[in-house]
Amino acid sequence: MVEVQLAGRGIRDRHVLEAMRSVPREAFLEGGMREFAYEDSPLPIGSGQTISQPYIVALMIEAAGIAPGDRVLEVGAGSGYAAAVMGRIAGRVHTIERHAALADQARDRFKRLGYDNIELRVGDGSLGWPDAAPFDAILVAAAAPEAPQALREQLAIGGRLVVPVGDDEHGQRLRRITRTAEDRYEQDDLGGVRFVPLVGRQGWLEDGRQSA
Ligand code: SAM
Repeated sequence: MVEVQLAGRGIRDRHVLEAMRSVPREAFLEGGMREFAYEDSPLPIGSGQTISQPYIVALMIEAAGIAPGDRVLEVGAGSGYAAAVMGRIAGRVHTIERHAALADQARDRFKRLGYDNIELRVGDGSLGWPDAAPFDAILVAAAAPEAPQALREQLAIGGRLVVPVGDDEHGQRLRRITRTAEDRYEQDDLGGVRFVPLVGRQGWLEDGRQSA
């Protein structure tokens, strides 16, 4: 997976490649899905959600420039896989999941595998985790109507927010927003992607309309 799907498609960051070599993706899947763990695709994890494609996980972590010692926030823990990969690189990872059943499974996996620098909570990650801010990097694993203001404000100066923006109808783009000063942000477009919706106060409503 690492040689063909990641290095072979241009992922260069050695921290990302090493971390993805060390975290067993099959341990983040249930029963019948495990045999597909190293295929280049998203897979169902229950509650109508998916574990992201390995290449997309690597691309987002590389784009966020996560370095040893960093404080990281992930929105959308899902299976816990991406948080586990980031936990192999960063100092501390905070991750939020809105589905309690997925959060419970992810927490059990972190414990069983000994990943003890990851903190997980159930809630609306579109509002971030203000008590633990500022973050050097924030990754959002679900698509928002626009980059949530709460997350932009929880970036450290120099911090990077990687977030898919857009809807199914018009298409989603992966954006990187870098906070260059207290009130200054720069934005890069990293290409087209396809994610489940970010459902929350600064995301979409359950029925697909944009939250106020
Ligand atoms: N990072 C995950 C992994 O490695 O398995 C994949 C995440 S999946 C593509 C997106 C996740 O975002 C889903 O589990 C979904 O429930 C969650 N989600 C959507 N909106 C959310 C919100 N407002 N707060 C927290 N989690 C949210």
